[in-house]
Amino acid sequence: MAIDIPFSEQTIFLSVIVFLWIVYLWESYLSHRQMKLFKSTEKVPREVEQIMDQTTFSKARLYQIDKATFGFYHGLFSQIENSVILWYGGLPFVWYYSGKLLAGYGFDSTHEIKQSMIFILFCSIFNMIINIPWDLYRTFVIEERHNFNKQTLGFYAKDQIKKFALTIVIILPITAALVWIIKAGGDYFFIYAWVFVFVISLLLVTIYADYIAPLFDKFTALPEGELRQKIEDLAASINFPLYKLFVVEGSKRSTHSNAYFYGFFKNKRIVLFDTLLKDYVSKDEREEKEKKIDEPAKEETGETDNNKDEESTTKEKKSIGCDNEEVLAVLAHELGHWKLSHNLKNLFISQANVLLTFIVFATLHNNKKIFMSFGFMNEMPTIIGLIIILQFIFSPYNEVFSFLMTALSRRFEFQADAFAKSVKQAAYLKSALIKLHKDNLGFPIADSLYSAFYFSHPPLLERLKAMDKLD
Ligand SMILES: [Zn+2]
Repeated sequence: MAIDIPFSEQTIFLSVIVFLWIVYLWESYLSHRQMKLFKSTEKVPREVEQIMDQTTFSKARLYQIDKATFGFYHGLFSQIENSVILWYGGLPFVWYYSGKLLAGYGFDSTHEIKQSMIFILFCSIFNMIINIPWDLYRTFVIEERHNFNKQTLGFYAKDQIKKFALTIVIILPITAALVWIIKAGGDYFFIYAWVFVFVISLLLVTIYADYIAPLFDKFTALPEGELRQKIEDLAASINFPLYKLFVVEGSKRSTHSNAYFYGFFKNKRIVLFDTLLKDYVSKDEREEKEKKIDEPAKEETGETDNNKDEESTTKEKKSIGCDNEEVLAVLAHELGHWKLSHNLKNLFISQANVLLTFIVFATLHNNKKIFMSFGFMNEMPTIIGLIIILQFIFSPYNEVFSFLMTALSRRFEFQADAFAKSVKQAAYLKSALIKLHKDNLGFPIADSLYSAFYFSHPPLLERLKAMDKLD
C-alpha cells in the first residue's frame, strides 16, 4: 500500500513546521487568557466565597501564576528546540552517528534494528539531559516555594536514575520488536503491529502494580479499622471485585493528594495516597512513636523539647487530607468510573486509535518524499518513518484527538460524580472536592476556552453545581 503525495519535499517539511508553530501560538494564546484571569482576580470571587477564604485563594493564585510563568518559558524553549532540531537536520544527524557507532563494532547499515536501538538510546539520553534543569527548577524552586515538595536532592537523583534505566529497559526491546514486525510483516504488518502494541500495553498494566510502581514508592496495605471496613462494605455493595487495598507513601514526594484504582477482571486494587488521609499514620511513624514511649527519659528538658517537636509536626500533617467519610466519597466517585466502564471505554478508543494510526502509517511509510523532506535522502529507516509520520505528519490529527479525549474525560468525571451521588455520597464528595482543591492550591475559576482544551476534570464549581442540579 502506498499513495503518492502531490506535494514536494519542501512543502511537506514547511507545512509540518508551520503547523507546529500554529499549535504553539494557539496554546500560548490560551495560556495568556488563563494568566490574565489569574492576574486580574485578586479578591476571592463572590461565587467561591463560601468554599474558599481569601488567604487560601491568594496562595492558590500565586502558585498558579508561578506555574504558568514557568510553563511559558518551558514551552517557548521546547518549541524553539524542536524547530532547531528539525530545521538543522537533527534526526538524520543522530541516525548517521548511530550507524557510525555500530560500524565501529563491525556491523554495516543492514543491521537496522540495532541502529534503531542506538538511535532511541541517544535520543533518550539527550531528552533526559535537556529536561533535568527544567524538572529541577519545577521541583526544588516552584513546588518548594509553595510547600509541596518533600523530595530531597538524593531522593530525586535516585528516582531519575531508576526512571531512566527502567524506560530504556522497556523501550529498547519494544522498539526492536516493532521495527522487526513492520519490516517482516508483509502487506498486513499493520494488524500484527497493532496486536503487538495491544498485548504490550495489557502486559505493562498487569506488571505495573507488582513490579514497577513498588520500585518508586512504598505501598502498604491499609490497616484494619473503620476506614478499611467502610471501603470494603462500599465495594461489596456495588459488587466491585476489590482484591487489594493499598496506601502509597506519596508524602515522600509531595503533599499533593490523590486516589485511584486499577487492574483487570477480578484483580482490582484501590490505592490511596497517604496525603489524602487526614488520620493516617504510617507504620514507620507508629513504630517510632512506640519506641519513644518505651525509651526512658534521659534528660528532662530534652524530653519536653522532643514532645513539642512531635506535636507540631503531627499538627502540620493533620492540616491536610480528608476524614474517613470524605475518603469514602472520593472512592465512590472512583468506583463510579469502574461501574460505568470508563476505563474499558478509554481502552477501546485508544486501541481503535492505534489501529487507525497504523493503517494510515501503512499507506505512507514507503513514500520516499516524506523521508526526503526530513533529510533522509537515501534511506528509509522504519523507526524514522514511525517518528516522522506519527509525531509530525499526524500532528493535526493528534491535536483534534487529544481535544476530544479531554472533553470525554470531563464527561466521565460528571458521570462518576453522579454515581457517587446515587450511592448517597454527594455531600461528602462535595466537601472532599473542596478540601482537595484547597490542599492542592487549585484555582477555583478558569478561563472557559483554556479549560475546554486542557482540563481533564471539570472546574470545581461546575462539578458542585452539577451535583446539586441532579436533585
Ligand atoms: Zn474521576
